[in-house]
Amino acid sequence: MSENSYNTIVVGGGIAGLTSAAYLSRAGQKVLLIEKNKEFGGLVNSFTHDGFHFEAGVRALEDAGIIFPMLKDLKIQLEVFKSPVSVGVDNEIIDIESINDLLKYRELLIKLFPESESEINDLIKIIQKIMKHMNVLYGIENPVFKDLKRDKSFIFKKLIPWLPKFIFTVGKINRMNMPVEDYLKTIIKNPSLRDIIAQHFFKKTPAFFALSYFSLYLDYFYPKGGVGKLSEALKNKILECGGKLLSETKIIEVKADKCLVRDQSNIIYKYDNLVWAADLKTLYRIIDTQGIATKIKAKFEETKIKMLQNRGGDSVFSLFLEVDEPLESFGKVANGHFFYTPSKTGLGETHRQVLNNLLINFEKVTKEQILTWLDKFTKLNTFEISIPGLKDPELVPSGKTGIIISLLAEYDLFKEIQKAGWLNEFVSELENRILNVISDSVYPMLKDKIITHFSFTPLSIENRVGSSEGAIVGWSFEKSMPVVNKIQISDRSVLTPIPSIYQAGQWAYSPAGVPMSILTGKLAANKILKK
Ligand SMILES: Cc1cc2nc3c(=O)[nH]c(=O)nc-3n(C[C@H](O)[C@H](O)[C@H](O)COP(=O)(O)OP(=O)(O)OC[C@H]3O[C@@H](n4cnc5c(N)ncnc54)[C@H](O)[C@@H]3O)c2cc1C
Repeated sequence: MSENSYNTIVVGGGIAGLTSAAYLSRAGQKVLLIEKNKEFGGLVNSFTHDGFHFEAGVRALEDAGIIFPMLKDLKIQLEVFKSPVSVGVDNEIIDIESINDLLKYRELLIKLFPESESEINDLIKIIQKIMKHMNVLYGIENPVFKDLKRDKSFIFKKLIPWLPKFIFTVGKINRMNMPVEDYLKTIIKNPSLRDIIAQHFFKKTPAFFALSYFSLYLDYFYPKGGVGKLSEALKNKILECGGKLLSETKIIEVKADKCLVRDQSNIIYKYDNLVWAADLKTLYRIIDTQGIATKIKAKFEETKIKMLQNRGGDSVFSLFLEVDEPLESFGKVANGHFFYTPSKTGLGETHRQVLNNLLINFEKVTKEQILTWLDKFTKLNTFEISIPGLKDPELVPSGKTGIIISLLAEYDLFKEIQKAGWLNEFVSELENRILNVISDSVYPMLKDKIITHFSFTPLSIENRVGSSEGAIVGWSFEKSMPVVNKIQISDRSVLTPIPSIYQAGQWAYSPAGVPMSILTGKLAANKILKK
């Protein structure tokens, strides 16, 4: 095999690509992992600024029966803390540390919406049922990470008794596939209450996925030193197993018939198998299919149309704050991972219909109209607030606090404003509004103590990880899904129409997040190793 020729090339050094490369190199393959950025990890990444530690992507991790089994299987030691979540609306804040705290959530909702008590009780019963399903779904270590040939005890004591429950649960889940907004309408009349429950989910999130979040809150953990430590550990594993890592290298063409990829400097790399663990629309745009069999080409073109017609799901706007105030002041209010809604009114149509109208008529809309909309959008929204120092106190300078405040944001709005030439002004208006809303409500000590601040927009995400529409969990739920979205056939999600090319990560399966990205990374490796 010549120097630039590999058994497998993995493109995309996010968590999916890292997982694939780790397993393939552990199996003795000659592996090259190519990443366009200097750092690996993609959306599982941390950075330090002025001595403050921040997460660039996901704020904490959910095991989901996947991450810990993967670490165990790869013999990776990762020191972790539990990452308890708080939920707050208006002046009511609760900590969620055990399954019983679902009742605190019920009380919180009833306090805010006393007239809807019986509907809230119905909702809580549904969430309880979903939590039971989640216990089945994630109840055993994911078999994909077990050595089923050798671990007979796992097969007989765990896997076989679990399978019938799993099949039953999958049936239940599939029946709750309708968008959460529509599902909630069938049980809750008050639109504000519906918003408070669901407005921090992506548009049209499947109801099961959205309402399972209470289980996921209990599952969150945080690696000592930050979320990026997970990516770092996988990167080290690849090196330890003899895999090769290439950063600051962007693949701009795939020649399918010759099994070649070309980077931005026109360097060519040859593969037997390719795992594409990055944006899928990009893959379908840059594959040259000349010379491949007609039947495969036809299937490829059909899939390409489906992919390119679709779009990425919601993106996020994140404000990073370095604050001259000790961690304790914030710790008294809520945990270091906090979903907070300052007003119980709910976003209503602000985020959906009104924004759509603004975007459709963007040419005619004035700056003032957009800023008036922005006022409402920030006052009524739900924020994900992460304070890394409350999870691991070593992550901030003594006596100070680093905070990340984020909200779901529409890529198209930022894109239009950028085209109109006032993106920096808009970002600063948004930053100020977020600061005002949070200082006027949950953290009054915040505003006068900020040392410095900066933010990432959906456009920054698109630029950094090459994610279509700045999406943070893959495909939008608004259109028909161009990839597999049923857990019982997740095995097929990594296949593409071209036999030597596999796909992995948040674009390969929906709904996805870190655990599914890891799972597809492993599934792609399995397929290659089985060949
Ligand atoms: C703010 C935020 C909160 C989140 N919260 C959660 C959560 O609570 N739970 C959860 O499960 N998930 C969450 N996620 C989502 C989760 O982080 C992602 O779904 C997951 O990390 C995706 O991993 P990936 O490897 O598929 O993709 P990515 O992380 O996007 O990795 C793709 C990699 O490919 C590289 N690349 C792209 N194009 C090329 C190219 N042409 N050549 C070479 N390299 C290329 C990119 O630079 C990137 O490193 C969140 C994300 C964000 C941003």
